[in-house]
Amino acid sequence: MAVAAPLNVDLHCHSSFSDGVLAPEALAQRACKQGVQVWSLTDHDELGGLGPAAKAAADHGLLFIPGVEISVSWARQTVHIVGLNIDPENAGLVNALNELRGWRESRARDMGDKLATLGFDGCYEGALTYADNPQLLSRTHFARYMVSRGWFKTMQEVFDRYLGDGKPGNVPTRWASLEDAVGWIQAAGGMAVIAHPGRYKFDDTQFDALYGVFRDAGGQGIEVVTGSHRPDQYATYAQIAKHYGFKASRGSDFHSPDESPVDLGALPPLPQGLKPVWADWV
Ligand code: AMP
Ligand code: MN
Ligand code: MN
Ligand code: MN
Repeated sequence: MAVAAPLNVDLHCHSSFSDGVLAPEALAQRACKQGVQVWSLTDHDELGGLGPAAKAAADHGLLFIPGVEISVSWARQTVHIVGLNIDPENAGLVNALNELRGWRESRARDMGDKLATLGFDGCYEGALTYADNPQLLSRTHFARYMVSRGWFKTMQEVFDRYLGDGKPGNVPTRWASLEDAVGWIQAAGGMAVIAHPGRYKFDDTQFDALYGVFRDAGGQGIEVVTGSHRPDQYATYAQIAKHYGFKASRGSDFHSPDESPVDLGALPPLPQGLKPVWADWV
């Protein structure tokens, strides 16, 4: 008997409404071409792309899950919380994200000033030219500009040397609290999911506290198979999901055809024995 292929589910990617380069329509088309069947757009702190994405997804026969990736500050690091199956019209969520985006403007100006003192001129204005949505200026836009000037070969090099957390060109920002972000997602009818846990530099005690606080706040999911993990991390976070009773998610974190190491829908399936976050939606 033939075993049915697992559903191709991709629940994490970015459009030009945040720091991705493709419009939602082009992303939907690419997802379809890549064989994705269940798709979510999860722009940073922004819901503006969800309307066009839902329409384009329907045109391509994709099951669309409205999503968002919220920036959170926890234990002096930035943690990303993905909200899945949210109501994009929910007033509480809309207003909260509006306020969060407001903080990006002053941070971007400060980052421009800081980079100027380090010898990189015009970065604020330059980053703006890479942002379709001026409300959502991100470090990614700065990195694109700094590569375009020929100062660096790759965006990774920019993050490693200047824009990554703790690097000299970065301006630390206080984002939402973990409890607030989970609360907004839940009030909008969605499921909160810890994005790419393998990227955070916490020790075991801090990770245990993070998972506990997240779960107590009502968080239910964790990304296991993501383009932001190395393949050897899939098993690590599969174990974490089982240990803490989290549902598991899969998403490419696709930003751009030229920059992203993993294309939409191209990751391996979830490891066996996990409860997928999408089980009740498909
Ligand atoms: P921001 O929300 O403005 O702080 O920018 C965060 C975005 O920068 C992330 O969503 C990634 O797209 C990108 N980013 C952050 N850290 C790195 C890194 N070390 N290497 C490459 N891209 C990164
Ligand atoms: Mn990003
Ligand atoms: Mn992220
Ligand atoms: Mn992301």
